[in-house]
Amino acid sequence: MKNGLAYQVAVIGAGPYGLAVAAHLRAKGIETRVFGDSMGFWATQMPEGMLVRSIWEACHIADPDRSLTLDAYMESEGIELKEPLRLKEFIDYGQWFQKRTAPDLDRRRIVRIEQAPLGFKLTLSDEEIVFVERVVVATGIAQFAWTPPEFRDLPSTLVSHSSAHQNFRRFAGQRVIVLGGGQMAIESAALLKENGAEVEVIVRRPSVHWLDQSVPWLRSASNPLRRVLYPPTDVGPPGLNWIVATPDLFRRLPQSLQEKIARRSIRPAATGWLIPRMKEVPIAVSCGIDSAVRVGDQVKLRLSNQTDRLCDHLLLGTGYRVDVSRYQFLAPELLAALSIVNGYPVLTAGLESSVPGLHFVGAPAARSFGPVCRFVSGTAFSAPALAKRVVATRSKKWNPNRPAKLNVAGEPEPASSTET
Ligand SMILES: Cc1cc2nc3c(=O)[nH]c(=O)nc-3n(C[C@H](O)[C@H](O)[C@H](O)COP(=O)(O)OP(=O)(O)OC[C@H]3O[C@@H](n4cnc5c(N)ncnc54)[C@H](O)[C@@H]3O)c2cc1C
Repeated sequence: MKNGLAYQVAVIGAGPYGLAVAAHLRAKGIETRVFGDSMGFWATQMPEGMLVRSIWEACHIADPDRSLTLDAYMESEGIELKEPLRLKEFIDYGQWFQKRTAPDLDRRRIVRIEQAPLGFKLTLSDEEIVFVERVVVATGIAQFAWTPPEFRDLPSTLVSHSSAHQNFRRFAGQRVIVLGGGQMAIESAALLKENGAEVEVIVRRPSVHWLDQSVPWLRSASNPLRRVLYPPTDVGPPGLNWIVATPDLFRRLPQSLQEKIARRSIRPAATGWLIPRMKEVPIAVSCGIDSAVRVGDQVKLRLSNQTDRLCDHLLLGTGYRVDVSRYQFLAPELLAALSIVNGYPVLTAGLESSVPGLHFVGAPAARSFGPVCRFVSGTAFSAPALAKRVVATRSKKWNPNRPAKLNVAGEPEPASSTET
């Protein structure tokens, strides 16, 4: 175990949020270290062939002078991209952004965050210890994949969450039931079909909600009013979308109204461009799964409409449920000190939690700042807000000219020993 030199801020996570935060902090001269795999979640937990659901304007990862937008990326690389972006195109863009904002990315994982006298003590996957003054948790939703309890006892060969697959090739020739009516469930069903599986979708609601079908032209790039009707954040229906696009306003609304707006803005829905690809996939609506039992190499499902299905695999498009207590790297004492409501940390200005110096960005910030925090476009609000807070509270503890050498308890070593 080695003693590390302190960084001012450690950003844990190198997805869109961690990278945007790092870009903003570094632009303000804050010494920042970023940990994690560059665009790791997108590269490993989304299926090959997936298209990015967000519109073009909502896919820029925020940087302080807007020099790292998708348009800048195209120009720099001499390539042409168009909406909807392919998964691989978005990952490449994110990694291009990372090389420009965090070229010194530390790919090691953080296995523990604990409070220390001057801030926080981080334990890295190779057991190195690093002391930092502030921590930004930007580790995304991977840990929050939601498997309903009734399926947890079945083996992963028979039941899996959609996030467990990088492609669906292994399902060719198999009968697969997909549970869910949101984008991931419906797009997985389309991809399974295209990979040669026999697919059926089970949806609890009376219908699949297809986005932008009433007047598709309204959202098209050729509509001159598109920018008025739809803010670049692209979250929520017209009217509510501007409230969602203004997280500082959302935060001031009564809790009950916040919840209504959030529910309406992220209700399960699928993009209209999936409709033609779903033509040959049966969808059973107003239907849940009452039970699932293993029958040899297959799984037998009893549906709520009292019919049965026998399939080779049940794919759960059941989404994600934020619960920061599932972030195993948060030490129990730190977790106990956090103010948490329904799994979400309570955050104040600068996305700072009830533990001073500990920030959360991305989906865990959604209860405090609204549903835009679940999407890439929320980086445009979160990253500058966080950087502003860090600058405003810049601590005297941090001396960039002479970083503190800390002992194993996170306390500064006597000056004589640090200045040798
Ligand atoms: C199938 C699917 C499709 C989506 N489509 C869209 C879309 O079209 N538009 C949109 O805006 N959003 C979309 N989203 C939401 C998307 O997840 C978020 O917008 C975005 O990824 C949030 O970025 P993030 O930086 O918070 O987290 P992530 O992108 O998940 O990044 C997390 C980072 O944390 C790192 N990490 C995790 N744990 C540790 C650890 N212990 N130590 C070090 N590093 C760690 C990972 O390696 C990774 O670098 C989609 C989500 C899913 C599941």
